[in-house]
Amino acid sequence: MSEALKETKFLMKKYKIKANKNLGQNFLIDDNALQDIANGAEISKNDLVIEIGPGLGSLTKLLLEKAKKVICIELDKKMVKILKDRFIAYNNLEIINEDVLRIDLNDLIKAEKENDTSIKNVKVVANLPYYITTPIIMKLVENDLDINGITVMIQKEVAERLIAIPGTKETGAITYTMYYYCEGKKIRKVENTCFIPEPEVTSEVITLNLREIPAVQVKDKKVMFNIIKSAYMQRRKTLINSLTSVGVFKNKEEGIQMLKKLGLKEDIRPENMKIEDFAKLTDLFLKNISENR
Ligand code: SAM
Repeated sequence: MSEALKETKFLMKKYKIKANKNLGQNFLIDDNALQDIANGAEISKNDLVIEIGPGLGSLTKLLLEKAKKVICIELDKKMVKILKDRFIAYNNLEIINEDVLRIDLNDLIKAEKENDTSIKNVKVVANLPYYITTPIIMKLVENDLDINGITVMIQKEVAERLIAIPGTKETGAITYTMYYYCEGKKIRKVENTCFIPEPEVTSEVITLNLREIPAVQVKDKKVMFNIIKSAYMQRRKTLINSLTSVGVFKNKEEGIQMLKKLGLKEDIRPENMKIEDFAKLTDLFLKNISENR
């Protein structure tokens, strides 16, 4: 029996724990998968690790051995109590009983770095609760946080969409946002039998390394992401039809002219657009608006 399975069974029995479905509690019990997440994050002795949703602490145990300090953010009070008991002997662990979506991560990281100037990198590591995967990842990448890398286990289909290269078949609107901010990499697949209780889906571990410079230059990234979202609302339609229906193009004729100017085919579909194409389209759209004022 794996070490993590033994410990999980022991803790669940001792503290009379039933996994809370509403909090996305699926405890990872596979030693190899746990090791691969911890190794995939490439943590060194001067790193601060922020773990989201530590649960019973199977991953935390490995992170504590690798990092200078681990800050765990866990919403469930019961888990916090267990973690405090379990890791009482460690002096490099801090546990915050909070909703990760409500916490000010910028303040938290700033305070830690001021407090300990030897901290080099900040890494986020997590087996994320499935029900809030996307808002958590968006919070981590969009807010210009002082974070170097994010290593998370999430639902496989979502993972593949996040790390796809825009313009390939797995692409969705979110793929462009991820690519703009990060370089994504797959670490491994994790079957649902590796959890207690078993989730219905297969999982995947990915790393998102935050880029120092965004993948493209664009006049207004928010406008670009809105155009991308509008284009992907009806991904089977041509770009011209989708963007004309939401008013990005005044009419089809204007759309044809704009795409021609950018060297794009008039029947191009959203999923064939590279991020550079959307950036150029956004700049042209903004230029047209300012000239027509
Ligand atoms: N890390 C543990 C593991 O790998 O076995 C548990 C992972 S479990 C998929 C997700 C964890 O996230 C649970 O412990 C759950 O209580 C916690 N959680 C759920 N929603 C949260 C939130 N909004 N903020 C912080 N933690 C949350």
